[in-house]
Amino acid sequence: MNHSKESCVFCRIISNDLPSYRVYEDKNCVAFLDIKPVNPGHLLVVSKEHYETITDMPKTVLKEISGVIQDLARKVETRLDPDGIKIVQNNGSQAGQEVFHFHVHLIPRYEGDEVNYLEEWTTQEVSAAEMNRLAGLLKKK
Ligand code: 5GP
Ligand code: ZN
Repeated sequence: MNHSKESCVFCRIISNDLPSYRVYEDKNCVAFLDIKPVNPGHLLVVSKEHYETITDMPKTVLKEISGVIQDLARKVETRLDPDGIKIVQNNGSQAGQEVFHFHVHLIPRYEGDEVNYLEEWTTQEVSAAEMNRLAGLLKKK
């Protein structure tokens, strides 16, 4: 399997070579909506540098990104009013990692949403207009 930076979809999103519904950016990371959300508002927080997994990255970068994850979780909480937020981070194909560039999932959960985290995750079709609306809500200061 080729996990190189050159063929990496997240590196292409970060460099704006590919579009995304971006909600946050700083020197360490970007956050954008997952294109195949488990629930509407499903966010990915992605390191700017191409580290494959959590063990490949400097601790200082991970610490700073952790603070951003908390800030974004607070935004998800206040703006989308979910019943819970699932935070997931996969390392290695056996753990379900498909994009080999460090990222953390923030998934709003709602009572009765019947999300499946085993094997294939259940995903939803969300219209471009709704993705724009959600990104706008989460981007607002
Ligand atoms: P993993 O299984 O590696 O933890 O998660 C990878 C995630 O990246 C999946 O939830 C998948 O939907 C998302 N993803 C893959 N390609 C793209 C893309 O081109 N744009 C966006 N926004 N998300 C993507
Ligand atoms: Zn990458």
